[in-house]
Amino acid sequence: MMDLDLQSIDFAKGNGLIPAVVQDADTLQVLTLAYMDEAALRETLDSGQATFFSRSRGGRWCKGETSGDFLNVVSVTPDCDGDAVVVKVRPVGNACHLNRISCFGEEDAPGLGRVGRLERTIHVRAQADPNDSWTARLIAQGPKRAAQKVGEEGVETALAGAAGDNTELASEAADLIYHLLVLLHARHMVFQDVLDVLARRAEPANHSG
Ligand code: AMP
Ligand code: ZN
Ligand code: ZN
Ligand code: ZN
Repeated sequence: MMDLDLQSIDFAKGNGLIPAVVQDADTLQVLTLAYMDEAALRETLDSGQATFFSRSRGGRWCKGETSGDFLNVVSVTPDCDGDAVVVKVRPVGNACHLNRISCFGEEDAPGLGRVGRLERTIHVRAQADPNDSWTARLIAQGPKRAAQKVGEEGVETALAGAAGDNTELASEAADLIYHLLVLLHARHMVFQDVLDVLARRAEPANHSG
């Protein structure tokens, strides 16, 4: 199914096992860490469901086979020297057998994946020559210009949403998010500040409707 050159994977280094970092393909949250032998990696690639080598049981372990919480595989990518892989998945249920989304904690994904990357790009471009970079030019014009763009893109997003053109809606929403990040940057804020507000609102005790 998925193509990955099994020859390029170094199983010998770890006595036949490689660590597999399992990551949510959409949120980029790290869900769990498990081990694969060559058979498990082969099965994962063929079946599209993450399969490991259970060190405690000493054998094949297709995650979800008893719980139903399968991990549907989106991609398997080796690291720089082929002795580990990152497995991007769309989980059917919870990856952790303690009924948590992630083995590494209760928290939902920070949700900063690609948005975080865009934010970092904006941060870098802000230092660029305004003649070379739209972002630098925008930031050089100050927060009011960025705020004005957020207003314009917000209206365009609303119009596209009302018109029911989903391609246009995605495009305008992308414009809106980009300009919103620029505005936050111009006001010395980061997207995490916004997520913190959302997280506080999600706490039941604070929910006032
Ligand atoms: P499952 O693969 O989800 O059907 O679960 C089968 C068994 O594997 C569970 O009873 C646990 O003992 C073990 N297991 C499942 N998920 C995890 C996990 N994320 N970390 C460690 N052990 C697990
Ligand atoms: Zn490595
Ligand atoms: Zn767990
Ligand atoms: Zn637009």
